[in-house]
Amino acid sequence: MPTTITEPAADVVILGVGYMSGVIAAELSIASLNGGKNYKVVAITKGPYWDYVNDFSTTKYDEWGVGLGRKYDSPLPLQSATIRNTPYQFALPVRRYTMPIQYHALGHGVGGAAQHYGGTMGRQGPWGYTQYSSTIARYGAPFLDTVNPHSDLEDWPLTYAQYEPYYVEWEKAHGLCGDYNGSATNQPSDTGYPWMSVNYPLPPSPLTPIGQSFQTATQALGYHPFPHVSALASQPYINQYGVPVNPCVYDGYCGGPCDYACETGAKANAAYRTIPAAMKSGNFTLVVNGFIFRLDTDTASGLVTAARYYDPQGNVHIQPGTVFFNGMWGYNMIRIMLLSGIGAPYVWNSDPTLVSGSVGRGPIQGNKRVRNSLEHGRQRVSCRERGRWQCGHL
Ligand SMILES: Cc1cc2nc3c(=O)[nH]c(=O)nc-3n(C[C@H](O)[C@H](O)[C@H](O)COP(=O)(O)OP(=O)(O)OC[C@H]3O[C@@H](n4cnc5c(N)ncnc54)[C@H](O)[C@@H]3O)c2cc1C
Repeated sequence: MPTTITEPAADVVILGVGYMSGVIAAELSIASLNGGKNYKVVAITKGPYWDYVNDFSTTKYDEWGVGLGRKYDSPLPLQSATIRNTPYQFALPVRRYTMPIQYHALGHGVGGAAQHYGGTMGRQGPWGYTQYSSTIARYGAPFLDTVNPHSDLEDWPLTYAQYEPYYVEWEKAHGLCGDYNGSATNQPSDTGYPWMSVNYPLPPSPLTPIGQSFQTATQALGYHPFPHVSALASQPYINQYGVPVNPCVYDGYCGGPCDYACETGAKANAAYRTIPAAMKSGNFTLVVNGFIFRLDTDTASGLVTAARYYDPQGNVHIQPGTVFFNGMWGYNMIRIMLLSGIGAPYVWNSDPTLVSGSVGRGPIQGNKRVRNSLEHGRQRVSCRERGRWQCGHL
């Protein structure tokens, strides 16, 4: 019979163990990175801790199972999404994955979506951090409203130069491969390119014959092609957390629409870069196959006090903590907050003074008008269409 189990309180509780959570886990559980403090860190994720040898080395070549069965993705019986094209449609849960990544291949287990991502990586250049101020400086303040009325474009809180040291740490942790970024000067004064204070830790992967042809052709046209930056280790190496990493074997079964996982651990993700370091720290507890369904909050302060999750037997575990890191990936992060009554849901209105709330603002892209919609967000639909949709869900 399912029971409720209250776990010992932790200093930090990490929700979901994907890419971002891995960094938080390593940085907070290793005492030497925190002035000798032994913070107790608990991380909870649905799904397993994938073992690249046993789980991927032979079974990943199952094209049907990986591409259509989506055996490394979030299982739909555990959690599905509902999809509708307009607000008038009845939202039905997705019951079967189809090709290609039609219903975003959500992460499942330690490493999250990056277990089967493409590994394309790199840096956003200086302009990306000042899109608002750079645009209005060049085209004038009214310009943005002509392109996208009520645009809510903003600059990032820091500049590229301020982010640059963190890029360097990230690249060392995950073993990025590349050869600078094609900047002519590689100086902070070059605002067109992401200049770098140090090069990527690993060299770029060897060019394929197609890559060589492309390089030759574009150089002949006067361009300056530079190697694509990748998070698939081109050489064996050990990162700053002491985690050893195997290189890529170039088998061709990698990212792309088929979502192949990596059988050597070369494809950077939390499972093979950061979580092993947290596990060694002595301060870290990993809970796998735990499905988080609610966050408890303190009624007076509104702060989160505990995470509730199901184990595979259906028992409910309550994990109290002081600090909570929500790393369940975009939609799930917002969903768990809304389910738990945290914050005010973002509600768009074409009149900016009537916009309310903030939870879910970014992914909803509420500043964009739905095609054929009225200014106030109502959908203009014909009676025929409305009838068809209604029939569809009766
Ligand atoms: C096919 C594909 C290709 C991609 N290619 C690239 C690429 O080339 N380059 C690039 O930079 N990015 C790429 N991405 C995106 C990249 O993988 C993601 O941005 C990144 O993994 C997100 O990290 P995250 O930590 O936010 O979430 P995730 O890595 O998705 O981790 C979320 C974690 O939360 C867990 N979780 C979710 N809900 C619950 C719950 N209710 N209870 C418990 N645990 C939960 C999941 O199991 C998972 O472990 C790709 C993604 C996909 C799917």
